[in-house]
Amino acid sequence: MIEIKTKEDCCGCTACFSVCGKNAISMFPDDLGFLYPKVDMQKCINCGLCEKVCAFNAFYSKRDNFETPLVYAVRHKKMKEIETSRSGAMFIALSDWILKNNGVVYGVGYTDHFHVVHKRATTKEERDEFKGSKYVQSDINTVFRQVKADLKNGLKVLFSGTPCQTSGLRTSLLNTNTTNLYLCDIVCHGVPSPYFWRDYLAYIEKKQKDTVIKVDFRNKSKLGWTAHKESFIFSKREREREREKISKLH
Ligand SMILES: Cc1cc2nc3c(=O)[nH]c(=O)nc-3n(C[C@H](O)[C@H](O)[C@H](O)COP(=O)(O)OP(=O)(O)OC[C@H]3O[C@@H](n4cnc5c(N)ncnc54)[C@H](O)[C@@H]3O)c2cc1C
Repeated sequence: MIEIKTKEDCCGCTACFSVCGKNAISMFPDDLGFLYPKVDMQKCINCGLCEKVCAFNAFYSKRDNFETPLVYAVRHKKMKEIETSRSGAMFIALSDWILKNNGVVYGVGYTDHFHVVHKRATTKEERDEFKGSKYVQSDINTVFRQVKADLKNGLKVLFSGTPCQTSGLRTSLLNTNTTNLYLCDIVCHGVPSPYFWRDYLAYIEKKQKDTVIKVDFRNKSKLGWTAHKESFIFSKREREREREKISKLH
């Protein structure tokens, strides 16, 4: 049975939560909103599966690790895709191919006023929400189980996330045929706190006396390619801008 004694022993990937056949594990936020697993002892049968899939455990299998990884530098051919992606738009190229082959794409988008979550997409329109880095730990919820179900249904699946998340997904898919699974992990220095993000949004909305309707963690078109500044679009101002545009047309 998994037991998180110190926070350094968990990256919140949800592999243990997803693999538990007894639904004995739930994910709970700490003071900063980072999710950690907790075991319900009434439901746990001590099967050891959660320990087997945990990368922070001594029993963790390194069977799938590359001895020496192959490294390529690539960028999309279309400038429009690069401009609207954080880096070289490799994710768009990979996910386009998956969608063309009737597959499904998992990546990071928003729900409930910019709560950062992993989502499933089957069209380019849905997939486009995943473009761009959201510098916050995403809530994976039951996505690993959805991936498993898609693979069992014979679909091609592309999952994109941090290296901790992709690794957690890979190991949680015990006894599942992963021939159709494509993993795309981003370069990642670590994930900032979901509650910091939530509180920061509330702070700027209070300061600006307006509601945020769009967020860009790095706006290449307005702030250049190297800037690391967030940009926000506010509701009232956007409506004023629209009104100005319309009055200029008349
Ligand atoms: C938390 C975080 C830390 C990062 N740290 C570094 C770093 O140290 N050095 C560096 O060079 N680059 C870093 N990046 C940038 C990241 O590596 C690039 O955004 C990525 O390589 C862009 O590739 P792209 O242009 O193909 O995709 P884009 O279309 O710009 O990126 C979108 C992809 O990133 C995924 N993604 C977006 N937000 C998250 C998230 N919160 N968690 C998991 N996946 C997410 C989406 O699912 C999608 O697949 C970081 C990004 C994030 C989200």
